[in-house]
Amino acid sequence: AHVAAIEKLNGRLNAFITVTAPQALDAARRADAILAGGDAPAPLTGIPLGIKDLFCTDGVRTTAASRMLEDFVPPYESTVTANLLRDGAVFVGKTNLDEFAMGSANINSAFGAVENPWKRAGDTDTVLVPGGSSGGSAAAVAAGLAMGATGTDTGGSIRQPASYCGIAGIKPTYGRCSRWGTIAFASSLDQAGPMARTVEDCAILLQSMAGFDPRDSTSVDIAVPDYRAACGRSLKGMKVGIPAEYRVAGMPAEIEAAWEQGIAWLRDAGCEIVEVSLPYTKYGLATYYIVAPAECSSNLARYDGVRFGRRVPAASLDELYEATRREGFGAEVRRRILMGTYVLSAGYYDAYYLRAQKVRNLIRRDFEQAFRTVDVLLTPTAPSPAFAQGEKMDDPVQMYLNDVFTVPASMAGVPAMSVPAGLSTTGLPLGLQVIGRSFDEESVLAAASAIE
Ligand code: GLN
Repeated sequence: AHVAAIEKLNGRLNAFITVTAPQALDAARRADAILAGGDAPAPLTGIPLGIKDLFCTDGVRTTAASRMLEDFVPPYESTVTANLLRDGAVFVGKTNLDEFAMGSANINSAFGAVENPWKRAGDTDTVLVPGGSSGGSAAAVAAGLAMGATGTDTGGSIRQPASYCGIAGIKPTYGRCSRWGTIAFASSLDQAGPMARTVEDCAILLQSMAGFDPRDSTSVDIAVPDYRAACGRSLKGMKVGIPAEYRVAGMPAEIEAAWEQGIAWLRDAGCEIVEVSLPYTKYGLATYYIVAPAECSSNLARYDGVRFGRRVPAASLDELYEATRREGFGAEVRRRILMGTYVLSAGYYDAYYLRAQKVRNLIRRDFEQAFRTVDVLLTPTAPSPAFAQGEKMDDPVQMYLNDVFTVPASMAGVPAMSVPAGLSTTGLPLGLQVIGRSFDEESVLAAASAIE
């Protein structure tokens, strides 16, 4: 059914870069045999998933939506996808994204933009963006092309597309899911996580994806709790913080209203609502757009035409580097590499990069301070519902502003989830964000399940 849905809708949505229908149908038949055989199935036996095309998949082309890796077929499986396969999942294909996960609208893909399956009420013409960078995963799940999908989140790339497409998505604590075999963007921020139609589905997927991996030195060796049991757990006495600094000037009334509604639902569920302050939030976006490009410029240095993917032959080694990188990288990736090399260069390192790292620490401390008095925080996921394709395209700063609510939790490494919380005045989904303490995804899932 999912393969048929992909055949019907992917031409329009462009949610998948690569569809692995024959392998998926084979795997589905094997799953059928297991289920018919009466043996206990694995937790995900037969569950059709989309895999963001940033996770290396053994023998299946992995592009990062870049011309640079257009024909790259990894000889190994990422830890996260290997964990999902171990638990019986069936992969239907590799989902579209912004090139190297840099973007907020999935318009920066070498394989074309992704279309959001949602439409504004009474307007079937305007094509809306699915958010980004995990826009293909979000669109695929929202349109029923997969039951769930993997995403990665560096500054909001799971949560913001989930919000724009009316699904749930969780960025776990940094260190919860292994980064091994996931193509790197900004290594101190990148985290894998699940995207699905319900909070409980996310919990089930995260259970398989998470866990210590000695091949990732930042993976943390602590037990993975029973996430499914956390969904729907009683919230009596839970303290929910509402950060004053997230009430940014110019926030649309419908976002404010959704937030108020979320607060009311949590209060009804027995939570105590507390005003808290995260004073360094206002520097989150500026700091992120120094740290993330700096790390990206270093990580993307490996695409030199020698070791991976594309190679444009040239007379000298320098020319080979130049020609390969000129052909291989799109405009946004180049912009990030330029910003990153600039803030890391001699004379600017102290003024920009080092300073940003210090502010990042202050942002982290803000969260630690808040979590001394509250169990979770509730905020909007994004400052608007999905916008039209073509909007904000000529102005990178406008595009970066989409990340204003998601970036702080990334900088602090704490878990954060977007959960559907009603519709905008134009009939589009709006998401709320639940942020939790490090390694307390359970409280995040519990609070989110009271909202959905
Ligand atoms: N939109 C943000 C960026 O462009 C976040 C991307 C992400 O989380 N991968 O950097």
